[in-house]
Amino acid sequence: DGRIAGISAAIRVIPDFPKPGILFQDITTLLLDPKAFKDTIDLFVERYKDKDISVVAGIEARGFIFGPPIALAIGAKFVPIRKPNKLPGEVISEEYSLEYGTDKMEMHVGAVQAGERALVIDDLIATGGTLCAAISLLERVGVQVVECACVIELADLKGRDRLGDRPLFVLVSSI
Ligand code: IMP
Repeated sequence: DGRIAGISAAIRVIPDFPKPGILFQDITTLLLDPKAFKDTIDLFVERYKDKDISVVAGIEARGFIFGPPIALAIGAKFVPIRKPNKLPGEVISEEYSLEYGTDKMEMHVGAVQAGERALVIDDLIATGGTLCAAISLLERVGVQVVECACVIELADLKGRDRLGDRPLFVLVSSI
């Protein structure tokens, strides 16, 4: 698709952020380019509009940028999956491992119902730990994760392999 090159070119790479040795993929420059931003949303909408998806689950924080416009366009609800102690209502939590230590993701109880069909969206997949935690939250309450979608995949880290049989769709693959 000819739109992918423009999306890829609009993503800025910043060395040594947030710490030395990390090449940070910065999607804020994609948001500054209305054509590339619209193409990004359109590509996801074209893929998911006829897949009977009732829930778009977005992962804090950058999944909150891409998820809502996709949800509105495909007629699905948007459910935020957040870092600990941010959601005010009753939550279920899922712990996951980081390079050093662990982190947690939370989702409101009652936001989704058993039997719903979900798309999980984030800006980027690295090791896949974050997406796995989001998948677990949804599957624990009986939701079917139809697919995970990210703008960028850091392919060398093989995060895709951690998602088991849930498909992953990405627009840009990077090393
Ligand atoms: P994972 O759990 O290792 O797959 O890391 C993915 C999470 O870390 C996502 O929520 C991303 O937003 C964030 N992340 C990791 N590396 C980058 C990056 O280079 N740019 C933007 N986000 C990143």
